[in-house]
Amino acid sequence: MGQYVAPIRDMQFVLHEFLKVEEHLKELPAHAETDAEIINAVLEEGAKFTSEVLFPLNHSGDREGCHHDAEAKTVTTPKGYKEAYKQYVEGGWAALACDPEYGGQGLPVVLNNSFYEMLNSSNQAWTMYPGLSHGAYECLKEHGTEEQKKTYLPKLVSGEWTGTMCLTEPHCGTDLGLLRSKAIPNDDGSWTITGNKIFISAGEHDMADNILHLVLARVPDAPEGSKGISLFLVPKFLPNADGSVGERNPIFCGAIEEKMGIHGNSTCQMNLDGAKGWIIGQPNKGLNAMFVFMNAARLGVGMQSLGLTEVAYQNALVYAKDRLQMRSLSGVKAPDKPADPIIVHPDVRRMLLTAKAYAEAGRAFTSYVALQIDRELNHPDEEVRKEAADEVALLTPIVKAFITDNGWIATSEAMQVYGGHGYIAEWGMEQYVRDARINMIYEGTNTVQSLDLLGRKILMDNGAKLRKFGEKIRAYVEDNGTDEAMSEFITPLADLGDKLTKLTMEIGMKAFQNPDEVGAAAVPYLRVAGHLVYSYFFAQMAQIALAKQDSGDKFYEAKLQTARFYFARLYPETAMLIRQARSGAANLMALDADLF
Ligand SMILES: Cc1cc2nc3c(=O)[nH]c(=O)nc-3n(C[C@H](O)[C@H](O)[C@H](O)COP(=O)(O)OP(=O)(O)OC[C@H]3O[C@@H](n4cnc5c(N)ncnc54)[C@H](O)[C@@H]3O)c2cc1C
Repeated sequence: MGQYVAPIRDMQFVLHEFLKVEEHLKELPAHAETDAEIINAVLEEGAKFTSEVLFPLNHSGDREGCHHDAEAKTVTTPKGYKEAYKQYVEGGWAALACDPEYGGQGLPVVLNNSFYEMLNSSNQAWTMYPGLSHGAYECLKEHGTEEQKKTYLPKLVSGEWTGTMCLTEPHCGTDLGLLRSKAIPNDDGSWTITGNKIFISAGEHDMADNILHLVLARVPDAPEGSKGISLFLVPKFLPNADGSVGERNPIFCGAIEEKMGIHGNSTCQMNLDGAKGWIIGQPNKGLNAMFVFMNAARLGVGMQSLGLTEVAYQNALVYAKDRLQMRSLSGVKAPDKPADPIIVHPDVRRMLLTAKAYAEAGRAFTSYVALQIDRELNHPDEEVRKEAADEVALLTPIVKAFITDNGWIATSEAMQVYGGHGYIAEWGMEQYVRDARINMIYEGTNTVQSLDLLGRKILMDNGAKLRKFGEKIRAYVEDNGTDEAMSEFITPLADLGDKLTKLTMEIGMKAFQNPDEVGAAAVPYLRVAGHLVYSYFFAQMAQIALAKQDSGDKFYEAKLQTARFYFARLYPETAMLIRQARSGAANLMALDADLF
């Protein structure tokens, strides 16, 4: 069913030429030894594992789905998933970017990021099982007690046990302040937890020996709303003192959801019938702790759509070179054939280039953010760590929402390249569209991401984080603005930077009068911010390509043309988006709800 070849050449371009990761990693004592040789070897091995083991299970897993046995309260994953997971654990992949203190390999996040792109291109539904475990690892590592870390982290790091995040309840999704699950303290320091969670990804499955659920619940007399939420660790099986799995804890899957895509991942209703758990962090501070998991997961969701964009593009490209329909408008291109391959048609090229540009920019963007996480975690200078943390905070909602919105556009365009053959299941293209759709919804909808960006990260911060990032762009524009060959990239970049600054101030002023102005502007605003980031990165990538244009390596020619396509065809939507963002709240709020 189609093909997937890991885009190693472009990954290497991003890591070695665009980011110059080795130079940055040398500054970080934990990663000073990670050189190009190690990076390239991991990419090669990762490419083999993902394309040979996981990709072949993608379509079959979608067709088969997961099965719930209501009586036994078990969930069986599609054929081959369990065996692939065993190979993943035995290959040490789960431990790649984890702390050696808990059995990890201690490699940088930026390298793990490239591996995760490959995992998601190969099989998003499968990747969610280990992906959620990694979020649980990060949360426990930051907020767990020493004993919790000693007991659970080595199991998560090795991949023997997996993790989940149990937030959502039937009446509460976005607004977690409404949640009702209850935790009552026991004499031995543990808690008894009761409640119903829904939509829990990987909540029950047969791939690992144990599942560690991270559950949000309320302790007795907790304040109302989000200030009264606590976080608990609730294992499926209670661990014995020797680390083996013991007694079954009453946290059971009541049903799994029928859904549009990611059929290979079990989306579970989880019932906690007096399950035993242990608090993570302080009572009523659970949301703070859970944000570590949620931020990791938001970046992970961006990676899911980047992976789908790449694989959908690759397949559409092969098809466009093979499928013969009609003749080129500018004269026959394949006289020996009954018709020309559809890649001769301008609009087919537009669709392919849209997916290609979004894949390449998304790769540069997520790798950049991953490197900033490495700097945040490991740089010896506290000031640098703080700056990196601020940038990650600013960019996380953009990674989540901009890449997943673009993933939806790109997979849909890639499907369109196939005409009717894209819509039927046989070629596998409609699966990418179905799988991509959830990424705009879970982990906080894209609307919620845009409110987080504009409201919390920018306006509540008086624009400080945005200004810092803007200064980097301004310095780049100043340094390169006189280079005539770069003006086609630098001029639109500088222009968009100015416009975003003005737009931010304008919305900020209007928000003083009417807070709905923020909600009315946030979604187009986030897209404009996403384009500013992509303009900045495409300008830099084009600059590298320009310098190497005469090297004879066609890769650079392709990069340059892709950057030109981006500025000519994708960037211009910013003009419309800015108009929408500036149009204000009145056109949305004036209509009485009864008159809809
Ligand atoms: C397949 C799948 C897997 C999932 N996996 C998990 C998981 O592992 N763990 C977990 O805990 N949850 C999980 N979820 C739940 C998911 O995170 C929520 O569905 C999502 O956060 C939205 O919540 P909701 O569905 O309750 O929608 P609601 O919160 O009811 O929102 C409905 C609509 O209102 C909008 N809205 C809400 N508030 C605002 C506002 N203030 N301003 C503007 N618009 C607003 C939303 O953007 C949305 O469009 C999963 C869901 C699915 C479908």
